[in-house]
Amino acid sequence: MRDPLIKAAEVGYKEPDLPAKNTRHNGSETVDLGIKGRRAIVCASSKGLGRACAIALANEGVHVTLTARGAEALKKTADEIRKLSPGVTVTEVVGDITTPEGRAAALKACPDPDILVNNAGGPPPGDFRNWTRDDWIKAIDANMLTPIELIKATVDGMMARKFGRIVNITSAAVKAPIEVLGLSNGARAGLTGFCAGVARKTVINNVTINGLLPGPFDTDRLRGPVAKIDAEKRGITVDQLLAERAKLNPAGRFGDPEEFGQACAFLCGAKAGFITGQNILLDGGAFPGTL
Ligand code: NAP
Repeated sequence: MRDPLIKAAEVGYKEPDLPAKNTRHNGSETVDLGIKGRRAIVCASSKGLGRACAIALANEGVHVTLTARGAEALKKTADEIRKLSPGVTVTEVVGDITTPEGRAAALKACPDPDILVNNAGGPPPGDFRNWTRDDWIKAIDANMLTPIELIKATVDGMMARKFGRIVNITSAAVKAPIEVLGLSNGARAGLTGFCAGVARKTVINNVTINGLLPGPFDTDRLRGPVAKIDAEKRGITVDQLLAERAKLNPAGRFGDPEEFGQACAFLCGAKAGFITGQNILLDGGAFPGTL
């Protein structure tokens, strides 16, 4: 067994050369996360939480490869990032990340990423009695096997280079299941369990794997099928339902995707190398547990 008091430097970890401050695109100053010049693949990032992660990483000087199925929104986001962070290279890859072709295209554009943000659309809501084997396979493919495939394709290179940050965007449903989202509860819990093991193996080479668990964030997804079903059931509009839900959150509001992006950038930072195998809930305090 290794001596638990072994120094970080002895396992190949090098203190990054950090300038004290970094200037953000809005002009304010913040701590430099020490990842300028790194390369990231941010999956499913034309909108919502993926987009926010890509913006935050680019703002730290990270070259970003963005993916999404729809070319138009992807180009819009890519151009926006080019404007906000002119010093970084922004590459767009149009494709479905849940398919082998989509993943191959992302990896061709960025074969040796230092940072991987796993993300994809969530499975549909429903009653488990109606889900077929195909429904399950689709959910597991998208929200469990796709991130695992991408980790498999990138983690050895990260370990050889002694730097890697992998962030899986999952869901608060990993911590507290959402009844109608059984497909999501199941597939994402599978990914979380897998990563819990691997994350303890990769950290020796300064490669961390963590989950970010969004509660309600103000994105298109929040206005999607789950809200529609709930609003219909209650005989109110989606806007009324969302206003009520926002008020009921301990923070009195939904999360701002920018807050999510900043948490992601922090986990990808040079100084976050001792955080691995963790699942961090961003839900305004909605989960009522002490831990
Ligand atoms: P969103 O605003 O709807 O954005 C989804 C993004 O992913 C879009 O850019 C979309 O572009 C892309 N995308 C979806 N499926 C894709 C695929 N197969 N291949 C490539 N790109 C794909 O959703 P979000 O709110 O950011 O949610 C992100 C993830 O967090 C989802 O899995 C969601 O279930 C989960 N989540 C969100 C919340 C929340 O409150 N927002 C809460 C819990 C969990 P294209 O459609 O053009 O591909």
